[in-house]
Amino acid sequence: MASTYPRDLFGYGRTPPQASWPGGARLALSLVLNYEEGGENSVLHGDAGSEQFLADIGPAQIEPLIGARAYNTESMFEYGSRAGFWRIHRLVTSRQVPLTVYGVGMALVRNPPAAQAMAAAGWEVASHAYRWTNYAEMPEAEEREQIGRAIAAIEDTVGERPVGWYCGRVSANTRRLVVEEGGFLYDSDSYADDLPYWNYEHGRPHLILPYSLDNNDLRFSTNGVFTGEDFFDYIRDAFDMLYAESAETPKMMSVGLHCRLVGRPGRIGGLARFLDHVEAHDDVWIARRRDIAAHWIAEHPPEPGA
Ligand SMILES: [Zn+2]
Repeated sequence: MASTYPRDLFGYGRTPPQASWPGGARLALSLVLNYEEGGENSVLHGDAGSEQFLADIGPAQIEPLIGARAYNTESMFEYGSRAGFWRIHRLVTSRQVPLTVYGVGMALVRNPPAAQAMAAAGWEVASHAYRWTNYAEMPEAEEREQIGRAIAAIEDTVGERPVGWYCGRVSANTRRLVVEEGGFLYDSDSYADDLPYWNYEHGRPHLILPYSLDNNDLRFSTNGVFTGEDFFDYIRDAFDMLYAESAETPKMMSVGLHCRLVGRPGRIGGLARFLDHVEAHDDVWIARRRDIAAHWIAEHPPEPGA
């Protein structure tokens, strides 16, 4: 099967490993709160124009204003850091559910009280790059420098170095630069599986914890009406299927959240209903991603000599 083709289209195939989650759990569930507001595109941040993704103006992608501030869009992002974050914080802390934050460095620096609340809640804060932007075209040296700034921003605001990484809109260099930087237990820039897996592309074994853009509240900002009930329906279906499959081969599920999206009052009920649904099931390990990564490293180490 030796091939020079650089993608892995096989993965675990028919025979996924037995995850052996702690306590005999069937399914590992990771809730992820993206913290991005204040790190998005803006001429205030030296960018060419305004933000074009994931605001409540029509479809998921809108035309940016070039060379000018987009005040409506900015205020929709501000809703996330001002009100949405705290609504989600109340829900999640009242239920004492473990959570991972994907924290954009610049956004955390602009809201120290939110960063301190994450740390006080025992949430993991993983790095979501320094900026909430598209890294596809960024020169390598600049991206490397930004990875360093992203780590420092979390150390400064949360008080602990991130051990998880998720860029989102990656460049051709992102994965390699993250491996070279070191100090990360896992990398979530992949949507390729229902279980963690090792990547051997860049010199040393690199653990991938796949993330999800379908079990994700970004669906609220695509075309058409999408209600809290729709969100609940979709992620409940995903949970039920993975829970059923996990009777044979335990799986991992990720749910992605955004302060300015599911943090709106018309939507958060869908998340609350999902948590009710999960709580009605036995043997679900709701865990921070760093804990899932630590389990995988201990129980499913990389291939010897790889
Ligand atoms: Zn994000």
